[in-house]
Amino acid sequence: MKVESKLKLIQKQIQEACHKVNRDVNDVKIIAVTKYVSIERAKEAVEAGIIHLGENRDNGFLEKWEALGDKPVWHFIGTLQSRKVKNIIHKVDYVHSLDRLSLAKEMNKRANRKINCFVQVNVSGEESKQGMEPSEVKKFILKLKEFENIKVVGLMTMAPLTDNEPVIRSCFRKLKLLQTELQKLNLDYAPCHELSMGMSNDFSIAIEEGATMIRVGTALVGEDD
Ligand SMILES: *Cc1c(COP(=O)(O)O)cnc(C)c1O
Repeated sequence: MKVESKLKLIQKQIQEACHKVNRDVNDVKIIAVTKYVSIERAKEAVEAGIIHLGENRDNGFLEKWEALGDKPVWHFIGTLQSRKVKNIIHKVDYVHSLDRLSLAKEMNKRANRKINCFVQVNVSGEESKQGMEPSEVKKFILKLKEFENIKVVGLMTMAPLTDNEPVIRSCFRKLKLLQTELQKLNLDYAPCHELSMGMSNDFSIAIEEGATMIRVGTALVGEDD
């Protein structure tokens, strides 16, 4: 199926989810995650009207960036090794995986402008998941004050891989609660107004629970049907 048709379906689901909880559809941005697909398919997404693109590895990111240029808004959504920071830092608009001080330090050193970051939180507590423990996030954000090139725009999480809707919902709800608490601190370097949560299988739930950016790969650009 063409990206354009898939996008229409997703937009409809976004509308339904927003309607359910009285949210404005304009408050939810779609990031097309192109990590599994070709440059051609990523271009098709941009031509279909997609503005935000996400990649989770530095080589994939660079490959797509070289081909598509800096017109899209570029999101780095995967684990970021400190030694890879220099490869992407001048090309990226948002980093969704800030999860440790050493990474903040390296990004701050390499960047020549403020980088929009999400602190990645491991809400579900699964050992396999990246991100920091919810109880550590506030302390961490307070420490970021000294890094002039780091701006914390919000929090990011991945829900557990399960069909159990209440489990997924509770994960997103906890992130929203934490985000609300942090936003109340009113820090200019950490406005924390955004919530990056929801993927192909769970973005409707994420939107109902307050997601402002959803990261959709398979359902939007997947080529396998
Ligand atoms: C791959 C990936 C996605 C998108 O996954 P889909 O299930 O294909 O929508 C979203 N977020 C992160 C962090 C990812 O690595």
